[in-house]
Amino acid sequence: MMNNLNNAQQNLQRAFKIHHASQNIEGLCDVRMHLAAVMQRAGEYEAAAKLLTEMGASAMEHGLRRQLGRALHLLGELHLRRERPELGTQHLYEAFLCFMGFRFETVHKEMNFQKDTKKGCVIFGDTKEIFEEEAEQSRLMTAVSAGQELMASYFSLLKEASICSVAKMKTIEWKLAHSGWWVKRPHHDFLPCLCPIHNRSPLDVLWLQVGAQEQAEAEKTAGEEPLDRASSVTDMRLRHSSYREMNLKTAMSRTDTSRTGAQY
Ligand SMILES: [Zn+2]
Repeated sequence: MMNNLNNAQQNLQRAFKIHHASQNIEGLCDVRMHLAAVMQRAGEYEAAAKLLTEMGASAMEHGLRRQLGRALHLLGELHLRRERPELGTQHLYEAFLCFMGFRFETVHKEMNFQKDTKKGCVIFGDTKEIFEEEAEQSRLMTAVSAGQELMASYFSLLKEASICSVAKMKTIEWKLAHSGWWVKRPHHDFLPCLCPIHNRSPLDVLWLQVGAQEQAEAEKTAGEEPLDRASSVTDMRLRHSSYREMNLKTAMSRTDTSRTGAQY
C-alpha cells in the first residue's frame, strides 16, 4: 500500500507543478485536496492539515466558495478522526454555511472581489448558487461530530461522578429522564457536594437556600409587584375580590369600633 501511496503522491506533485505553471487555482485546490487524502492515508495528519489549510486559504483568496467549503469540510473530518470533535464541529458547521452561501456575501464585500471577473461571476454572481449535496453532507457530519463531542463529555462526567455528587445527580437524571447534563439547572446549586470544585456541606446548602429565599423576597418587593399588578384577568378578579374583602373588613371593624370604642 505504501508503494501505491508513494506513486500517487509523485503523480499529484507533478500535477501540482503543471497547475502552478498555468496558475490554475481550481486545479491547485483539487491537487492539494487529493494530496491531503494521500497524506491522511499514510498517517501524516499534520501534513494533511497543512495542505487543507493552504487549499482553504487560496480558495478564499480567489473567491472559490465550493473549494473553500470542501477544505473546511475535510479539515473538520480530519479533526474528528483525530478525536478533536470540538474543532471538527466548528469546521463542519462553517463548511455547511459556506456551501449554502450564508455569511459569505459579507466576506465577499470585505475582500473586494470583482464581480465582473470570470470567476467572480460563477461564484459570486447575483444568483447565489447553493451546493445542496455538499451542504447536506456537512450538515450530517456536523451532527455526528457534535454527538462525538457529547460522548466525550459524557465519559468525563462518569469519571467526575466518582467523587462529585452533582455529576452523579446529572448522570442519574440523564439515565432516568434524558435531561441533558450540559444544561445548567438551578437545583444543582443546592446539592451538597464535597468535591474540590463545589466544596459545600449540607449546612452550607441550607445557608445558600436561606440566602436565595431572602434575595427572591427582596426582588419581589423591590421590582415585580407594581409590574405584575393587573397583568391578567384572573389577577384583576383576585385583586378585586381582595379589595372587596378589605372593604368589608374595614366596614366590620368600623361597626366593631363604633360598638366598643376606638381601638387602633
Ligand atoms: Zn462536586
